[in-house]
Amino acid sequence: MILFKKAADLTHWLRRQQAAGLTIGFVPTLGALHQGHISLIDISRSKTALTVCSIFINPTQFNDPADFAKYPVTLEKDIALLEKAGTDILFLPDVTSVYPGGTTKLEKYDLGPLESVLEGKYRPGHFQGVCQVMYRLLDIVRPDDLFMGRKDYQQCMVVQRLLAIMDLPSTLHRCPILREPDGLAMSSRNTRLDPTQRANALAIYRALQGIKEGWSAGISVDQLTTTATALLEAAAFRVDYVSICDATTLQPLSGPAGAEAIALIAAFQGNVRLIDNMPL
Ligand code: AMP
Repeated sequence: MILFKKAADLTHWLRRQQAAGLTIGFVPTLGALHQGHISLIDISRSKTALTVCSIFINPTQFNDPADFAKYPVTLEKDIALLEKAGTDILFLPDVTSVYPGGTTKLEKYDLGPLESVLEGKYRPGHFQGVCQVMYRLLDIVRPDDLFMGRKDYQQCMVVQRLLAIMDLPSTLHRCPILREPDGLAMSSRNTRLDPTQRANALAIYRALQGIKEGWSAGISVDQLTTTATALLEAAAFRVDYVSICDATTLQPLSGPAGAEAIALIAAFQGNVRLIDNMPL
């Protein structure tokens, strides 16, 4: 694995590989890597000649400074995992390398209604930060294929929109959610849960499963979300949202409407905010 810290060096090196006909896959991350991230590396390696992973804790996407300050950093372990997975390139920039002009007064993207629902509503500015960093990383790497996880379902939709708005040629692949054996979605933030919170955290998966079963049985959206919220609160969660939405627009559904549906949850266990989702 080759490590690059400077954007210009990476761009220069990758352009030479592309000129030689090699395709480039890109897996952007915030680090604190787990098997969910590695599954994206595996998919990228199966589809492209060169796989680039970035580790960059992007300050502009953290609407909560405490979350940014406490974001786990496990660089040595990350490097070992990436090497073992056969990653070709690790991009490890600092803030100045990604934002040479600083992180204030940055551009704004028109994300439409996506920005005012779910994560957009509860984390104001978050998706602008995601777009600001993704635009820069995509400009540096210029991947043929971009691999992101459906765990961050709305983020995939936002990035798809960014690709369209900015007319970027990369193809986005939305990859499956990897879960722990008991069902909890893998997340870097899980490492911040104490054993009691870790046990409570499973309620998110149970709530999603309950919604899925109830949905198939024709139970109303109101009843499904009320039951799921109660289950989460009984496991000491503070709920931001439990929502059943049209999977293509993320607008709330009031009942089966022939649309593809998805259930999404965001909730705090202590001060750790977890998200998960399940297609219905
Ligand atoms: P993060 O480091 O949390 O920004 O995640 C980097 C990428 O890994 C994003 O595209 C996430 O959606 C994806 N990812 C995170 N957790 C999982 C998971 N459990 N399964 C699959 N992909 C994931």
